[in-house]
Amino acid sequence: MTSVIAVEKEKLENPPLDIHYLGDRILRQPAKRIARVDNSVRKLIKEMLQTMYSSHGIGLAATQVGIHKQLIVIDCAPDDSDNKPVVLINPKITSISKELSLFEEGCLSIPGVYLNVTRPEMIEVSFKDEQGKPRKRQATDLLARVIQHEIDHLNGVMFVDRVGNGLALTEALQKNGFSPQAIRPVK
Ligand SMILES: [Zn+2]
Repeated sequence: MTSVIAVEKEKLENPPLDIHYLGDRILRQPAKRIARVDNSVRKLIKEMLQTMYSSHGIGLAATQVGIHKQLIVIDCAPDDSDNKPVVLINPKITSISKELSLFEEGCLSIPGVYLNVTRPEMIEVSFKDEQGKPRKRQATDLLARVIQHEIDHLNGVMFVDRVGNGLALTEALQKNGFSPQAIRPVK
């Protein structure tokens, strides 16, 4: 499928959107479903992609730029100009694998902090694409992980809420200027 969103994978000096950081209450607010995928949504997708590439990220949720809409953009190979970004509107995880994997995560909203998180290795997700068409896809490995991380954002959840090692977590947060009180552990 040819994407209707054409974005240069480049680092802009002034990316169009501002990213919010851990401790900001905006990040804890759940996102609303997008009723209609129109040009304003496609403009937002473009600006989110530009902001993500400018920040050297591989995923960005609208929540992170202070917009409470169920929209995420992902590009697991930002240096490969042929790799098309993934755009998920109103994403919903419909199944997860029993197999779990442990992998180090980071987040554009928590710069400098990288910690291990356990998540299902494989998922199936339903969503709408940038043309408003309902779709379904399976994902494994890094893509599965990034999708789960970004959907968490839409629910006001940050990856550090899922970190098991409390000591390493507190240390990493403090070292990078974040308060451990900003964490809301996920059961
Ligand atoms: Zn994140």
